[in-house]
Amino acid sequence: MQITQSKNLFEKAKNFIPGGVNSPVRAFRAVGGDPIFIKKADGAFIYDEDDNAYIEMINSWGPMILGHNHPMIREAVIKAMENGTSFGAPTAREVEIAELIVSMVPSVEKVRMVNSGTEATMSAIRVARGFTGRDKFIKMEGHYHGHGDSFLISAGSGAITMGNPDSPGVTKGTAKDTLLAPYNNLEAIEELVAANRNEIAALILEPVPGNMGLALPKEGYLQGLRDICNREGIVLIFDEVMTGFRLAKGGAQELFGVTPDMTTLGKIIGGGMPVGAYGGKKEIMEHVSPAGPVYQAGTLSGNPIAMAAGLTMLNYLNDHAEVYSQLNSIGEKIATGIKETVSSLGLNYTVNHLGSMYSLFFTGEEVYDFGTAKHADTALFGKYFQAMLKRGIYLAPSQFESLFLSTALTDDLIKNILDANKEALKEIHQP
Ligand SMILES: *Cc1c(COP(=O)(O)O)cnc(C)c1O
Repeated sequence: MQITQSKNLFEKAKNFIPGGVNSPVRAFRAVGGDPIFIKKADGAFIYDEDDNAYIEMINSWGPMILGHNHPMIREAVIKAMENGTSFGAPTAREVEIAELIVSMVPSVEKVRMVNSGTEATMSAIRVARGFTGRDKFIKMEGHYHGHGDSFLISAGSGAITMGNPDSPGVTKGTAKDTLLAPYNNLEAIEELVAANRNEIAALILEPVPGNMGLALPKEGYLQGLRDICNREGIVLIFDEVMTGFRLAKGGAQELFGVTPDMTTLGKIIGGGMPVGAYGGKKEIMEHVSPAGPVYQAGTLSGNPIAMAAGLTMLNYLNDHAEVYSQLNSIGEKIATGIKETVSSLGLNYTVNHLGSMYSLFFTGEEVYDFGTAKHADTALFGKYFQAMLKRGIYLAPSQFESLFLSTALTDDLIKNILDANKEALKEIHQP
């Protein structure tokens, strides 16, 4: 495998773009080596600037749930483009996608479209504060909610990978309103609530966190949060930017049968275009401007091209329940295959898996929160990542990420992935 163009591009990029990339994890700092520059993608494959092909395990961090360059979405975008790219005025498509989201996501009665997951979570917190008249909120250690100032306190994803979870530029004033709790620990929430009675506007979490690697909620945990929030008048926000339309068409809230007050969405919702959304109970969403006093706006929000892509994606998922059984079966085959290989090689590593998401943690201990995720051997993960890349498998370039599988993975490709996994694990354990 020749990697020349990517190297050259990265060298040049570093002169003009901070760190050479437009989003930190892409720089491969957590795994060593230089990032691969992508020329195109199709189905289960992405192709780099040297024309190497890789099997996709990230899928643009989630959006490409049907594989890349899906003809249905491509055609919807091309057709929409023929009528102009932006109007800054309401369109029929926005009404249609809003109605569809309300029908798909249990907690959402009204919804506002934005341009990214970051915008969705920033706005949701503002609305929860406006609604309750309280300032503080609880977030979980290692969960990632985009790069809004108040979320960059023990944030997951790239923020862990880059080793500076508490970012410079976030003021002490902002940080003091963010209360931190360990995931999967109801007692810790009770303690925070008791110490800050009537001051907490919201509790936000990834119901199934993928940004510290994948972890699963313990039995009764999400319902426990629901009960505490009901009792204390706290707005419960599920950040389903990653899990929405992936774990089920109604996201983790549908899968676990726990309905939050507000939900933030992104990734799949735009079918690969930059889209986010936040929604929830009518009485809360009625506080959003111009219906209510909480200001939130966007020049390109509800952009007609982005809505065409998103609407096509969501309509397809809504009409094809079999997508989810197909994704579950693909995820099951891969996660089971990896577990079998790990034990057949006499190794002891943890595989967390749910539906089409999984993480292989280089630790033998159970991983159920940020503290346990950090036990993983990140140097060994870096070697594994490179050993997989060399074999044409494109993983997320950090231990602290979930993988996102697509329906484009055939049984033959799954076999390739599992064979590569076996060879890679052998290679990195050679004395
Ligand atoms: C990706 C992600 C975000 C941020 O979305 P962007 O579109 O990158 O701003 C927020 N929350 C979760 C759970 C995410 O996975």
